[in-house]
Amino acid sequence: MKIPIYHRMTKQKVKFKCISCGKCCQTFRDQEAKSNGLPLREWELAKFKELAKKHNVKINIQPIDIALEKRSGLYFCVDFKQIIEPCPFLDKNKRCLIYSERPLTCRMYPLAQNPIVFPNIDLSHFGDCPGLDAKEFIIKNLKFKEGKENKTNKQFAAKEFLEAFGEDAFVSSLIVSWHQAFVKKAMENIVQDKSFKLRKVSKYDYPKITPLTFFDFLIRKGYMEEDSKEKMIEGTLGYERNKEMTYSIINGEPGDKKVVI
Ligand code: SF4
Ligand code: SF4
Repeated sequence: MKIPIYHRMTKQKVKFKCISCGKCCQTFRDQEAKSNGLPLREWELAKFKELAKKHNVKINIQPIDIALEKRSGLYFCVDFKQIIEPCPFLDKNKRCLIYSERPLTCRMYPLAQNPIVFPNIDLSHFGDCPGLDAKEFIIKNLKFKEGKENKTNKQFAAKEFLEAFGEDAFVSSLIVSWHQAFVKKAMENIVQDKSFKLRKVSKYDYPKITPLTFFDFLIRKGYMEEDSKEKMIEGTLGYERNKEMTYSIINGEPGDKKVVI
């Protein structure tokens, strides 16, 4: 059930307010594109496993989708998920045992996509959370009209998102969105490149396979240098760089986009 936090008759803006219901840590079905697990980026895996060991917590990490590149015989996957529900890091008082070190998915929630990377805003930008009425946010804060063509720009949308969700969620969603955009572009290139032959792997075969991470697969195929991977994780996908970018876009030039909700 959604708890309305904005009344149409008031001029008050919609802000996300976590009501500590624990839902997003109890079940992962609504987190990021209905993934049935807590999504983890490849560079978060080592830390997540280390935290599980430190807190003596049992986790189960699985690949989200495995593909086979037939020419090289390499298996790879883009992201991983922790599938035990409720999250093993959730304590009896519904508090996160690793709050200050929690993964990006948890930091950004209920933001699913960032308006800087995905400026055509619709409800897919938000997770299903009782602390936010996403439709009211779009209508009230972004001044969108239902069923009409709406115009917004990155600068304005970024300001509204940042104000409503806070810096940590905004910057975390920016990192995840850059990663999604990078993977999408790389996959498009791979599909068009005749030196690749991809095949989806049946879920029944997953237990027999240890896939490469996507970055490692690109390195093995000569699409990425080993040091570019480190630069990407620490630079392009790094927190400080994305925080700086957030404020430079907010203070910079807007770019118009036409959108319809
Ligand atoms: S983020 Fe949303 S779903 Fe998660 S605990 Fe807060 S209100 Fe509940
Ligand atoms: S790591 Fe923490 S915030 Fe994330 S799902 Fe688990 S308990 Fe919730």
